Amino acid sequence: MATLPSVGAANQPPPLAGHDLFAANRPLAEALGREGAGWAAARCSALGTRLTGEPLDWGRLANEHVPQLRTHDRFGERIDEVEFHPAWHELMRLSVGNGLHALSWTEPRAGAHVARAALFYLTAQVEAGHGCPISMTHAAVPALRAAAPELAAEWVPLLTSSEYDFGLRPAAEKRGALCGMAMTERQGGSDVRANTTTARPLGDGEYSLDGHKWFCSAPMSDAFLVLAQAPAGLSCFLLPRVLPDGTRNGFHIQRLKDKLGDRSNASSEIELDAARAKLVGEEGRGVRTIVEMVVHTRLDCVLGTAAAMRQAVEQATHHAAHRLAFGRTLAEQPLMANVLADLCVESEGTRPRRSSASAATASSRNPASRASTGSSRSSRSGRAPATSSASTCSERSSASPTPQRRSSRRFASRTTPGSAGQPSSRSPRPAEPAARGASSSGSRSPCRPPCSSGTPRRPSRKRLPPQGWEQSPVSRTEPCPTRPNWARLSSATGR
Ligand SMILES: Cc1cc2nc3c(=O)[nH]c(=O)nc-3n(C[C@H](O)[C@H](O)[C@H](O)COP(=O)(O)OP(=O)(O)OC[C@H]3O[C@@H](n4cnc5c(N)ncnc54)[C@H](O)[C@@H]3O)c2cc1C
Repeated sequence: MATLPSVGAANQPPPLAGHDLFAANRPLAEALGREGAGWAAARCSALGTRLTGEPLDWGRLANEHVPQLRTHDRFGERIDEVEFHPAWHELMRLSVGNGLHALSWTEPRAGAHVARAALFYLTAQVEAGHGCPISMTHAAVPALRAAAPELAAEWVPLLTSSEYDFGLRPAAEKRGALCGMAMTERQGGSDVRANTTTARPLGDGEYSLDGHKWFCSAPMSDAFLVLAQAPAGLSCFLLPRVLPDGTRNGFHIQRLKDKLGDRSNASSEIELDAARAKLVGEEGRGVRTIVEMVVHTRLDCVLGTAAAMRQAVEQATHHAAHRLAFGRTLAEQPLMANVLADLCVESEGTRPRRSSASAATASSRNPASRASTGSSRSSRSGRAPATSSASTCSERSSASPTPQRRSSRRFASRTTPGSAGQPSSRSPRPAEPAARGASSSGSRSPCRPPCSSGTPRRPSRKRLPPQGWEQSPVSRTEPCPTRPNWARLSSATGR
């Protein structure tokens, strides 16, 4: 019987674990300092190290054992609950404990948004799905504070608590709570004005909601901001899953979505049956009210996308630095070095440097004073970057298997709207700080590809490589000034 070759002969890279995700990401550390959150470096480093331990396994388990819907208990009573693998709860506990859902509002100092963005970005590199309830809970706070101070007084202490307290119980019995949002209906997602869910005033400041929502993520959250048609038009409501007397609200989970990604997170289709809810903001101003929440979740879409790209770069460069082919590591093969450099540039260009954290800061210009005054009005200048960053980053993150496809995609992204395919005159790459040397510290940082700590020099037009590579950011003939010595880097990192 054939036996498996020994580990050494298998030519497999060592596991990518046990290092500090923050220390390994020099551009992130630099951005943290530059954007006023240098004070959070130790916190980022501690979480960055923690994340490459047990949480790696939690992430695997939470995605392999996806959430299960339990509509009824064994006696036939409707319960509308979702069961999660214990690994999901561990991830949630870790993120809530580190303030990923609240730091922007609880840390009364400048740079709090940036610090929270960095923590979220690091965590999403290990498991992204649980970022959904974390993000929505974070985003609900400014919406409540801006439009419903009384509800904010009741809910914000729970939403910003550092305790993860899972389970459907009345708010008064909880030590921490999560918040979701329910806008999308079957007949319209982007255009929420098409919502048909109705809100009937009950006369005591409460409304009775009837209808459906087609996409309602994290349905085990304690409360939701919901859009529904009130007499004066589309309005925003706060709907608790459990009423103060302990009875379940009329929030029925019909089924869970079978999604391609975001598997660990439950997303549901729900029906609202005389569900009790309280008005947030004015009747007829629902979109304006809920957009205060939406804008922050869209900023987190940027962070999540940038994190996925960074994770891919780490995995690819680590693998290529250890896998041997034709007598050299893959990373030392010129064409592979080019591919890796391309991935790095895309990842660095999308990191939350000028997008999410900055836009969040723009949306609440002085986080310290906003946190203390409780106000976080998203200005137009905050919303616009959120929307454009979310779509731009999502587009850039889509994998492209061939250099040719990357080239054409990059060409397309250089065209300006209305220019009918004409390349933009603007530089496609943001200005970068001066070239930095490769890190070769003794810490167990993941192996880096050429130029991972700085944007590679663009090829000279006179030295265009063969067709299909003309848009490649790194010339194969022109060595990058920051290109590390791969052999030295591998031995320095012990891999
Ligand atoms: C993982 C996941 C979780 C979600 N969780 C929630 C949740 O918790 N709560 C919730 O309310 N919703 C949730 N959604 C739904 C999401 O908000 C909607 O999918 C989104 O708003 C788009 O709506 P739609 O799918 O109906 O697409 P449509 O509105 O039908 O749009 C289809 C396509 O057309 C584009 N488009 C739309 N309008 C225009 C326009 N004017 N110009 C150019 N292009 C346009 C859109 O960008 C999209 O690509 C979730 C979706 C996903 C994928």
